[in-house]
Amino acid sequence: MPTFAYTPLLSYEDDGLVRPTQVVVDLDALADNLAAIRRRVGARQVMPILKANAYGHGLVPVARLMEHLGVDYIGVAVLEEGILLRQAGIRTPILVLGGIWGNQIPLFLKYDLTLTASSVEKLEQIDQAAAALGVTAKVHLKIDTGMERIGVHYYSATPFLEASLRCRHVQVEGIFSHFANADAADLGSARQQLARFQEVLSFYEKRSLPVPMRHMANSAAILRLPEAFFDLVRPGILLYGVYPSAEVPRSVAVRPALTWKSRVVYFKVTQPGHPVSYGWTWAPQRLTRIVTVPVGYGDGYFRAMSNKAHVLIRGRRYRQVGRICMDQMMVNLEWGTAYNGDEVVLIGQQGEERITAEDLAAWAGTIAYEVLTNINTRVPRRYVSQRYDVQRLVQPPVLE
Ligand SMILES: *Cc1c(COP(=O)(O)O)cnc(C)c1O
Repeated sequence: MPTFAYTPLLSYEDDGLVRPTQVVVDLDALADNLAAIRRRVGARQVMPILKANAYGHGLVPVARLMEHLGVDYIGVAVLEEGILLRQAGIRTPILVLGGIWGNQIPLFLKYDLTLTASSVEKLEQIDQAAAALGVTAKVHLKIDTGMERIGVHYYSATPFLEASLRCRHVQVEGIFSHFANADAADLGSARQQLARFQEVLSFYEKRSLPVPMRHMANSAAILRLPEAFFDLVRPGILLYGVYPSAEVPRSVAVRPALTWKSRVVYFKVTQPGHPVSYGWTWAPQRLTRIVTVPVGYGDGYFRAMSNKAHVLIRGRRYRQVGRICMDQMMVNLEWGTAYNGDEVVLIGQQGEERITAEDLAAWAGTIAYEVLTNINTRVPRRYVSQRYDVQRLVQPPVLE
């Protein structure tokens, strides 16, 4: 039986026992975001995408909440994520969106995970593996309509769909494709991909065959392409309360579920001309107050944000200065005030001020998706809710 090393969640009641750098996930925000997505798509099924540790929010706790809220399906990227969910007791159907590799197929079947078939050859491998075990594999066919990642090209789909009809040990439950540009200002190429997918789907109509569950819409398409809703939608970033880009209309109201915070652990006064941190990239021009915060690129706070990022302390915005280190960084208070133990908000709100994942993305030269998924497992996750019994719902018992 395979075992996977994933840093366990720490859930001590006493704040002082856990490092002060923490991610706090608001379960009520996740639930409200899901409800808003459901209102947008009406009767369609919803498959929240929980890949990459649920976009940094914590795979198992988010899955437990989603199951509690009765989602139809859960989507993950890789086999191991699916196995972790089954081992955590998740019973909701799980689609593994990524490709299959090596000898993994029997593990998919053992853990009742739905496979993505991305070529005729892989489909036949799945059929044979299922036959050998005397079971039926649940499969979704992947059609490449313009991503050039995995899947059978839309212009070669007919033999693929025909092959799927011949497989005796495969249940073709779904068929799907993925947008490359649904978040771009111009929807032209997304509409082109949509038309290609519809053309592939006409296979079933032409032969009077039942159509498998069709799906294509990611967050961006949920926000702006109702024609792409089909039978099921696959929200990722939107579920977490972040919009996929600045170009998309904010037609579904969501709010960020994740706050990333730390605390001031050291205070000093630094002399003019005395540079701060590795490489001496920044020095104060006059006497200034500097605090140290125990978070760094070893937690996923990008080093590329050095001398660009801002943080919030006591409701005010301050600049990060000097190179961000692996485990610590410095913040320039100038003549502001802070005390050891004061909360430092890296992503989230404090008083009237707010810092978003998009802000960090701009400072680091990346996208909010990478900011969120980059917060690694060294950072303890804490779950809060006004509605749910957090302890019962998401937190496994603490092992001594
Ligand atoms: C990641 C992913 C999604 C979700 O994308 P968002 O932009 O986060 O909504 C949907 N479908 C597939 C195949 C994906 O890989």
